[in-house]
Amino acid sequence: MNTKIPYKIYLNETEMPTAWYNLRADMKNKPAPLLNPGTHQPMTAQELGGVFCEELVKQELDNDTPFFEIPEEIRNFYKMYRPSPLVRAYCLEEKLQTPAKIYYKFEGNNTSGSHKLNSAIAQAYYAKKQGLKGVTTETGAGQWGTALSMACSYFNLDCKVFMVKCSYEQKPFRREVMRTYGASVTPSPSMTTEVGKKILAEHPGTTGSLGCAISEAVEVAVTNEGYRYVLGSVLNQVLLHQSVIGLETKIALDKYGVKPDIIIGCAGGGSNLGGLIAPFMGEKLRGEANYRIIAVEPASCPSFTRGKYAYDFCDTGMVCPLAKMYTLGSDFIPSANHAGGLRYHGMSSILSQLYDDGLMEARSVKQTDVFEAAEQFARVEGILPAPESAHAIRAAIDEALACKQTGEEKTIVFGLTGTGYFDMVAYEKFHEGQMDDYIPTDEELASYAARLPKID
Ligand SMILES: *Cc1c(COP(=O)(O)O)cnc(C)c1O
Repeated sequence: MNTKIPYKIYLNETEMPTAWYNLRADMKNKPAPLLNPGTHQPMTAQELGGVFCEELVKQELDNDTPFFEIPEEIRNFYKMYRPSPLVRAYCLEEKLQTPAKIYYKFEGNNTSGSHKLNSAIAQAYYAKKQGLKGVTTETGAGQWGTALSMACSYFNLDCKVFMVKCSYEQKPFRREVMRTYGASVTPSPSMTTEVGKKILAEHPGTTGSLGCAISEAVEVAVTNEGYRYVLGSVLNQVLLHQSVIGLETKIALDKYGVKPDIIIGCAGGGSNLGGLIAPFMGEKLRGEANYRIIAVEPASCPSFTRGKYAYDFCDTGMVCPLAKMYTLGSDFIPSANHAGGLRYHGMSSILSQLYDDGLMEARSVKQTDVFEAAEQFARVEGILPAPESAHAIRAAIDEALACKQTGEEKTIVFGLTGTGYFDMVAYEKFHEGQMDDYIPTDEELASYAARLPKID
């Protein structure tokens, strides 16, 4: 075993990034702008300011500034759980008997258990700075809601979370963590909003979706003085904050002179992947280096691999701006899938543009294959991964096995976005052989696609 590179590469506090990197600055084809759903004109800062915090609107609309300084208050918070380790998966390599070198960037080292805290603390900071009373949001699997409640309690902000009903029922412990941090948690769709009532009237008994919960959270934000809405993925600003993952990864790899060949991340709304790849994709866009970049999504919610690249609503209630993205349609409700964080119908506009330009690959994986990889990983690497993260593990293992066939010593880096301690119901289903692998048919997807808004 070559242990010239330590099992865990930690950086010093002084080596941590002091600015987020805005990948859009290096993109020749910029991501398409958000459109006003009424006029189909690009959303202005003023329009967005009714829903989002001012400073975050600036970040959202800025396609040109390459670096944004990370405010000191946020850096201080980051220091409590960052830099996160970059781990050389020596044990997994040994187990697979692969010549590939595998690294993972582990973001599960904080109480919320995922990378989402990186953006939650930034968004809470800007809300506080603006003098707001609180923020509203949605949460699917619960990771974003947990991260945001932690961030809000740190800055003394009220936090109202709409949690997708099936997760609310399946993951009572997530809910209690959020309440421990002082957030109020409502199962969505609910009777507390107009849009929730409408969705319930049309789909009685629905177990909800992220799209429904977003509509409810936005409604509460715009109808309550001193509140704004915040979102944990998809938006440009979230990818900006998450660039801290990629920047740290690059600094750690550079320290040991390691150059990755393949970079892999799971993709729900695209924030961890967008953050992880940011500095590497930047080099690729500037022609300084080349990497294979792979997005991995569930076969039950295949936005990249089977979606359409089109303008669509970000939410089921159609109250949000339109975003151009790879989408399955805003009323697509995926079949029960245990990677709750990957059940969103759309994808970041930045990643959608990069994918459309052929700068990255995407693949979809079946649920049971994902849990098989999760278990294999847990047994040798000592971390119980989140089901979302296990999508990236699956692809990393598959790439490492391909290297075994060809004898190539490729270097693979993947994002291990979080821990799976709140997902034991899913692991239980897997162990009991009760996990289903439902994959939507072409007809189903076509019927959703036919309802995409017509924008010329
Ligand atoms: C939310 C989440 C994801 C997916 O979200 P992205 O915005 O695509 O990164 C992946 N892993 C974990 C652990 C999550 O909580």
